[in-house]
Order: sequence, then structure tokens, then C-alpha cells
Amino acid sequence: PFDVLVVGGGPGGAAAAIYAARKGIRVGVAAERFGGQVLDTMGIENFISVQHTEGPKLAAQLEQHVKEYDVDIMNLQKAEKLIPARVPGGLHEVRLENGASLKARTVVLATGARWRQMNVPGENDYRNKGVAYCPHCDGPLFKGKRVAVIGGGNSGVEAAIDLAGIVAHVTLIEFDSQLRADAVLQRKLASLPNVKIITSALTTEVLGDGEKVTALTYKDRNSDDLHQIELEGIFVQIGLVPNTEWLKDAVALSPRGEIEVDHRGETSQPGILAAGDCTTVPYKQIVIAMGEGSKAALSAFDYLIRTVPA
Ligand code: FAD
Repeated sequence: PFDVLVVGGGPGGAAAAIYAARKGIRVGVAAERFGGQVLDTMGIENFISVQHTEGPKLAAQLEQHVKEYDVDIMNLQKAEKLIPARVPGGLHEVRLENGASLKARTVVLATGARWRQMNVPGENDYRNKGVAYCPHCDGPLFKGKRVAVIGGGNSGVEAAIDLAGIVAHVTLIEFDSQLRADAVLQRKLASLPNVKIITSALTTEVLGDGEKVTALTYKDRNSDDLHQIELEGIFVQIGLVPNTEWLKDAVALSPRGEIEVDHRGETSQPGILAAGDCTTVPYKQIVIAMGEGSKAALSAFDYLIRTVPA
């Protein structure tokens, strides 16, 4: 069995694998797609100490760094069930979609999350060419330009407030007849001179010139009229979904499906840790996932030296 089995090969999982392997213990990583969300990212400018890099390059470097160590990398392997140890110090079991079963004394869950998409024509074609999902990451790229934020929940309204300080103009588009964000955020948003709020609006299409976004269209749900807004950027903020559907019966999840962790990365099950975008830790970012992954691996090691194997 593994001493530490990491599930997920994004920044969080890679950091956990490296920190665990450096303890000279038996480490495995099972990942559906090594690299994670970083593979879908173009420019990265907030990976501290690296002024600029690109997603695929960083993903390759993550894998190279893990391969420096004696880590059993199982890429293109999707986990479908976690069976926690029945007794303290016992082995946890992770079942893979291919039928294999992996046993481990500790497990680090780092399965990340995915941005909910609008699923409208043009969205995929212009992803990273005007269509963005992370205001902390891509906001500065739209300095002085016009953008829309899709979604009037807390994350959409926070994004609109954040972006209003950087870009020329923000249009916030909400499907419902009213915003769903906290009142204090709504008040802040309403006070900003360069923000327009449109409610009861269904985004129907992302338009572009072949290279980049030029406009979006939406349908007024009261009149059914179609409208077009000229702009350079669209931030989609309609939900970040953690990849934890397979963990429902194994560890405690928040109402949003995030794995509940404490400040050491411990879950509700002894010897099962979690890190990164799949957890309740706020602010989903590369450096944060790496820090949390490192922390979870150190907590796993701490568990190993304090627990008698059953
Ligand atoms: P992920 O990167 O999501 O990795 C999860 C891993 O788990 C993957 O290997 C996945 O295949 C695997 N997995 C999932 N389910 C299973 C399963 N059942 N079995 C096995 N493996 C599984 N952050 C920044 O800091 N700066 C940026 O500029 C930036 N830009 C971004 C741009 C885009 C378009 C996107 C989508 C995100 C961006 N982010 C950025 C956010 C950043 O990518 C994430 O915060 C970070 O990747 C989270 O790392 P993670 O390891 O927690 O999860």
C-alpha cells in the first residue's frame, strides 16, 4: 500500500506529492488529467516570483518536478469511490474507474473544481480570447476596456466591484429579476459610476471577429427582445463546481459540495486530507492550491508518525 496516495494532479496534488515524497515514504498520484485547470489557462501573471508563464508550460514543469522523485504517477485515471478505513490506522481504499483498487494509509484529495459554463455559441471559441472565468487572474488584461460579468450572485457582484476599479466599464448581467448577492455587496456595486446592472437577462451568444470577443447578445426575459452589447471581455461567474461528486458518502462536504477542511487540511475522516479548489478554503488560485497541498502532505506525514498501523 501507499503511505500517501494523492488524488488529483493539479498544482495542489503536485505540491502534495513532492512534499510527501521528500519524506522518503511511498507516494502515488492518481489523476484524471495531470496538470488540472492549469492546462486550460493561457497567461499566468500571479504565480509569485514568475512574472509570466503559460498554463501548458507550468503543467509540464509540475509533472517534471514530481518526476524528480520516486512517485508512482497514474495519469488518465479517474477515481470513482473512496472507502475510508474502518478502524484508526487502517487502510483507505480508492477505486478507479478502470476497476483497479488502490490502498493507502493516508489520502490527499486534490481533485480541484470546474467553472460552470454558459453553454452558448461562441463561449468555447473565445475562451482565453475575451471569455474569462477568474477576475483575480485576468482582470488586469482588460485595463481600460469594456467588460460584462455574467451572474449576480456573490462571486459575480464581487467580480464586478473588483473589475470596476480596473476596466473602463462593467455591465453586470443577471438571469433572475434581482441580484442574489449579499446586500452590502449590492450597495457597493450600486455606488460605482461605471457599472450598469441588467436583470432578467439571458445571455444568448458570444460574438467575435475570429480573433477576440467583440460583443455579446442577451434576451430580455420580460419582452423577449434581443440586445447586443459591444465589449472586449466577458467574465462568467455562474458557479465554481468542486469535483467531489464521488466523495459524498466518504467525507463531510459543505452545502456547495466543497470538502470541509480545517487549518491543517484535515477532513472529517482521520488520515484523509484535502487541498486546493475542491475544499472550503477560500480564493481558488494556483499559489493557494500549492500551499494547501504542501500543508496537507505535511499533515499526512504527521498522521503517519503518530498512528500505529492497524
Ligand atoms: P485543479 O487544477 O482543478 O486539478 C485537479 C486535478 O484533479 C486534475 O488533475 C484533475 O484531472 C484531477 N481530478 C479531478 N477529479 C478526479 C477524479 N475523480 N479522479 C482522479 N483525478 C481527478 N489561478 C491562478 O493563480 N492564476 C491564474 O492566472 C489562473 N488562471 C486561470 C484560468 C482559467 C481558464 C482557469 C480555469 C483557472 C485559472 N486559475 C488561475 C485557477 C487555478 O487554475 C486553480 O486555482 C488551480 O489549478 C487549482 O489547483 P487544484 O490542484 O486544486 O485543482
